[in-house]
Amino acid sequence: MIYCDAHCHLGSRQFEKDRQQLLEAMMEANVRKAILICCSRHDLDRSIELRKAYPDLRLAMAIHPQDLEEDHSLDRLNRLEKIIDEVKPDMIGETGLDYYSHPHTKEYQQYFFRRQLEIACERDLPVDIHSRKATQDTLNILKQYKVRGIIHSYSGSVETADLYLKQGYYLSFGASILFKGARRPAEVIRHVPLERLLIETDAPYQSPIKDKRHEPWDVIRIYKAIADMKQVPLAELCRTVEMNFDRVFR
Ligand SMILES: [Zn+2]
Repeated sequence: MIYCDAHCHLGSRQFEKDRQQLLEAMMEANVRKAILICCSRHDLDRSIELRKAYPDLRLAMAIHPQDLEEDHSLDRLNRLEKIIDEVKPDMIGETGLDYYSHPHTKEYQQYFFRRQLEIACERDLPVDIHSRKATQDTLNILKQYKVRGIIHSYSGSVETADLYLKQGYYLSFGASILFKGARRPAEVIRHVPLERLLIETDAPYQSPIKDKRHEPWDVIRIYKAIADMKQVPLAELCRTVEMNFDRVFR
């Protein structure tokens, strides 16, 4: 069985000391495919190195919506475009809107989101979407662009899931579904068709265990929980999710 982590930040400084060992262990555990999300030149350079050794890793690059506090000069978008044409990542991400942690940069977020969707459109690249407390605006903006891709760390309702599915997006579920007493995720996961579902850690973030760094092989735990919720054999879940993963980059 092969596992895929549809969203992790292996290029992050939090993996600086043991990135190589981590990757080897990850492969050993059969977490063979992953999308390496890069939101800085540092993370991108580290991730490019990893991909040289493991070609099944995919690269995603974008300006994160939480990262517009200090610098929201348009020049950042020009620089991003240059990097994208130079490095040719597989995906634009993560980009989107975060009104939860950064409500006061809302306008900039929308502008940067739109421009990055244009960048994706022009190059026919899929997108990885971060949306927090911004569902309506995210849906409205996405509707205006002919893009495809993934809604990262989905934790919304069944109704919202349907709206994203209707627009052709994959929904990716993370460790938040493991939290005790989380009733809604099970309901949503049962509702989302298997062939539109992805699984991710967001490592090193979103660890289900407090103060512990999240690591890509933790994705296996999320796979198991989803197999339970959907009442499908783990092997079938692995196969289908891997197909979905590949299809994003068709
Ligand atoms: Zn992330």
